[in-house]
Amino acid sequence: MNQTWNQHVVKKENKTLVLEIIKNKSPISRADVAQTTGLNKGTVSSLVSELLNENLIYESGPGESSGGRRPVMLLFNQLAGYSIGIDLGVNYLLGILTDLNGEIIQEERVSFDDLSYEEIVNQLFHIIDPLIASVPESPYGIIGIGIGVPGIVNNEGEVLLAPNLNWKQIKLKQVIENKYELPVIVENEANAGAYGESKFGVGQSFENIVYVSVGVGIGVGLVLNRNLYKGSSGFSGEMGHMTIEASGLDCRCGNKGCWELYASEQALIRKAKQLNLVPPEGQELSFDFLVEHADSNNQIVQLFEEIGEYLGVGITNIVNTFNPDQIIIGNRIATAQKWIQPKLFNRIYNFALKQHLHNLNINFTQLTTHSTALGVAAFAIEKFLEVDIIH
Ligand SMILES: [Zn+2]
Repeated sequence: MNQTWNQHVVKKENKTLVLEIIKNKSPISRADVAQTTGLNKGTVSSLVSELLNENLIYESGPGESSGGRRPVMLLFNQLAGYSIGIDLGVNYLLGILTDLNGEIIQEERVSFDDLSYEEIVNQLFHIIDPLIASVPESPYGIIGIGIGVPGIVNNEGEVLLAPNLNWKQIKLKQVIENKYELPVIVENEANAGAYGESKFGVGQSFENIVYVSVGVGIGVGLVLNRNLYKGSSGFSGEMGHMTIEASGLDCRCGNKGCWELYASEQALIRKAKQLNLVPPEGQELSFDFLVEHADSNNQIVQLFEEIGEYLGVGITNIVNTFNPDQIIIGNRIATAQKWIQPKLFNRIYNFALKQHLHNLNINFTQLTTHSTALGVAAFAIEKFLEVDIIH
């Protein structure tokens, strides 16, 4: 008998549900899958057979028994395939290879300064090629590539605007898909980072999270009621361009006095230059240089404290607006936590609305700089499995 379209959709949804339960609750028996999903045992049994044939799950037994015959347990096959996650920063690229549970198998990193679009795409190939070459034998191999970009990305994966990269209307998804013939997802880096944190990082037990990604610019990712909030076109979270000084510095976005001009790496470097903090011959005045020398240079500590103060100004606005459970400060600035945290906390706890502070948690990322790469790798996995793995 031919299935109707509706039957096909229902079956697919049920199969996704069964896989999701096995993935999240592995090891689990068929009977417990049936009980958890509310599907009847016959349906579960036939969907499980399909998933076993597809190598997405495997059996091991026997599990815990409550008397009687011990059930065979089902486990998610996290090594059935591998995902690539790329964090494309303004001055670096981080690429990771993960299994289907987001465990990192391999990583590649490169730093650079002021590269053209073509040069960055070349660097991207240099990061992706060795990751692909290092993939272990598996039924599905590389299942997809996710790329996080510091800019406005539409739902078709086109980078409409990335001011700090000087990119406009870049069809990055297409370029990478053409080269590797794999499914590619391009997403805003802060959205991906927020998702990475809620799935793998300090956000795992919180419902309403605002992830503040502070690199050369500032991006914000929102997880509201455990779902990534992307806005109607995918453009939410451009808070790096909220005005905090009405007649402030000119921003590349066309506005004046944008938050990221005062509270990010670019602010830090600009102020360090104004202070004539010149590194020794052969070294560059970079974020890494300032982090390395802060402990022995009080001027550098003061610069970080100023960044902390200005970060606090913006985050106070965010706390008052969203009343989140948690603010996560991520990306490269998190490596300077010990110098920025005192002023930052001081600003928020003294100036945010008191009612908003009761249930507020402020955390720095513990995924070091991997939140975005893990988030986009997870997006590629979800697309492959067609499951929502956040819950
Ligand atoms: Zn701006």
